[in-house]
Amino acid sequence: MSTQQAMVAFPRGFCAGVRRAVDAVEAALLRFPTPIYCFHEIVHNRQVVDRLSAKGVVFVHDLDEVPSGGVVLFSAHGVTPQLRADAQQRGLTVIDATCPFVAKVHAEVKRFAQDGYTIVLIGKRGHEEVVGVAGEAPEHVVVVEDPGEARTVDVADPLRVAVVMQTTLSQAEAGEVLGALRHRFPGLKTPPNSDICYATTNRQEAVRQLSEKVERVLVLGARNSANTNRLVEVARKAGTIAELLPDMDSLEKVDFAGVKRVGVTAGASTPESFLDAVMAALAGRGFEPTSLPPVAEESVTFTLPPPLCRQSESARM
Ligand code: SF4
Repeated sequence: MSTQQAMVAFPRGFCAGVRRAVDAVEAALLRFPTPIYCFHEIVHNRQVVDRLSAKGVVFVHDLDEVPSGGVVLFSAHGVTPQLRADAQQRGLTVIDATCPFVAKVHAEVKRFAQDGYTIVLIGKRGHEEVVGVAGEAPEHVVVVEDPGEARTVDVADPLRVAVVMQTTLSQAEAGEVLGALRHRFPGLKTPPNSDICYATTNRQEAVRQLSEKVERVLVLGARNSANTNRLVEVARKAGTIAELLPDMDSLEKVDFAGVKRVGVTAGASTPESFLDAVMAALAGRGFEPTSLPPVAEESVTFTLPPPLCRQSESARM
C-alpha cells in the first residue's frame, strides 16, 4: 500500500444552481438554433465555457451583442432588473438561470427597500452576483467588503439598516463584518435565513475538515470564482498550505516534495471531469485516492428555468 494519499473532500464541485444553469444551456442548445447567447460566463469555469462555446454558445458582456430576436441566457449569478427590462424591450428570448438562492437575496433587497431601509450588502464589489443584487435598489444599497468598511459605512438613518450577503462568502469572514455592523447598528435587520447558501457552507466545512488531515490542499476551480477562492481561504485559515488550480498545467507547478497526504476539493463551478483528471495525475505520482466521509448529504435540485421547464413539462404530458 502506498504511503502517500490523495484525500478528496465531499461535498465538492457542482452545486444545484450551477448544475441547473449548465443543464439549461444544454437544453437550450437542443431547443433553439445556434448560436445562442449567454450573458457573461454561465459559470466561472474555463473548461465548461470552452465546451459550450464549441457547441454554439456565444458568451457576451453586453446585451447589444445579442442580435434582435436572439436567445440569451442569464447565468446563476443573476442580473440587474434593468438588464432584464432591456432584454424584454429588445424582444429577446430570455432563459433566466439565476440560482433560486440568489433570487432570494434579490427579493430581500426589494422588500427592505420598500420598507425604507438602507441595505448593507456584504460582498465583493464588482462581482456579477453583487452587481445584480445591488441593481434591485441602487439608491438603497451600499456594498461593504470587510469589517473596516462596516465600521465607517454611511447610512441615511442608523435606526433603519438591514443587511444581506453574497451567497458565496465564507461564514467566518461574513461573521466578522456582521459583528461590526451589529455593534454599530444594534437594531440591524437581518433576513430570516442566512444568505450564504447550503453548497457554500458544506464545501467550506468539508475543506476545513480536510485541511486538518493533510499537509497541502489543492482547490480546483477558476481564479474568478468567488466560492473557489473562499475554499482556498478556509483551508489556509485552518493552517494548511492551499493553492488554487485552474487547469492541469498548474498541477505541474505544485511542489510535492515531502508531502505524504494531499487534499483535493473543487469549487461549486468546477466539473467532476477536472477532478478525475487531477486524481489520475496524482495516482501517477504515487498518491493513493482516498474518499473522506461526507460532512453533509446534499439533495437540493432545481427544475429548469422557463421556457425550458414548460417544454419538459409538456413533453411529459
Ligand atoms: S453556490 Fe449556492 S447560490 Fe451559488 S449557484 Fe450554487 S447553490 Fe446557487
